[in-house]
Amino acid sequence: MATAASPSPVEVPRIPPAPRFQWWSNVLPMLASHLAALGALFFDVPAEAWVLCGALWFVRMFGVTAGYHRYFSHKTFKTSRWFQFVLAVLAQSSAQKGVLWWAAHHRDHHRFSDGERDVHSPADGFWHSHIGWMLDPQTNATKSRRVRDLTRFPELRWLNRFYLLPPTALALICLFTMGWAGLFVGFFVSTVLLWHSTFTINSLSHVWGSRRYDTTDTSRNNPVLALLTLGEGWHNNHHRYMLSARQGFRWWQVDVTYYLLKLLSWFRLVWDLRPVPQDVLNEPRPQTADRRRRARPRLRSLTEGAVRDR
Ligand SMILES: [Zn+2]
Ligand SMILES: [Zn+2]
Repeated sequence: MATAASPSPVEVPRIPPAPRFQWWSNVLPMLASHLAALGALFFDVPAEAWVLCGALWFVRMFGVTAGYHRYFSHKTFKTSRWFQFVLAVLAQSSAQKGVLWWAAHHRDHHRFSDGERDVHSPADGFWHSHIGWMLDPQTNATKSRRVRDLTRFPELRWLNRFYLLPPTALALICLFTMGWAGLFVGFFVSTVLLWHSTFTINSLSHVWGSRRYDTTDTSRNNPVLALLTLGEGWHNNHHRYMLSARQGFRWWQVDVTYYLLKLLSWFRLVWDLRPVPQDVLNEPRPQTADRRRRARPRLRSLTEGAVRDR
């Protein structure tokens, strides 16, 4: 039998932390939104509500990918102060907490990818990385020190504090313009679909797909996830060079967010879209052995898994 003095050299899956859900503020709103979306499917819903649902999924997914991710988290392009605010409001209407909260957590993901301090590491299991980590009250705080370049804007600090304002306003607009179908299908169904398509990047894009680059993490490229998330599925590319406005590095790697950013740049709403450096494009493919080396989230020994630094 292994003792503390003789730790087992055999690697075993990492032990996930005990869930510490906060029911009132974290679990119930998410649960209620899922029930509202599911309930809508039992009623006769007019076609316009489904059109609204699809449109709101698309526009808000662009807000998440172009706004939360490529602009606020990585500054891969430039824009004016007023359009920065528009992007923040659009992204926050996705009901994925505040703009500073999102960017700070995402910067931590790149800093600690797949490690102990990566809050949605796939090493902690699918459900934890997909949705469980957000139900833990320890993830509620905004790590302001990670986003000092953003906290200097009072309007972003205000928006981050009242993060429920944009989704609540959108829900009310859906209700008053299209009635209950607008609220339940237009808003709730599209929001739940938007959540789960966004969350696949945390749960699946470090597990499912191929590795073009031998990065120090387990990120992968996946065309299915790229279609589901308007281009975010080229996650191995993104971990290799996170400062690029495009994540589909090749012409055949469909990246709808980049195409729309390019369109916005023609109207000077955004500019200075940062390209992929030629040497990154020319980098040789890793050898099979290198690609296998990080083929799965890193497993930890029993003794390592018992302690988490949070
Ligand atoms: Zn990123
Ligand atoms: Zn990642």
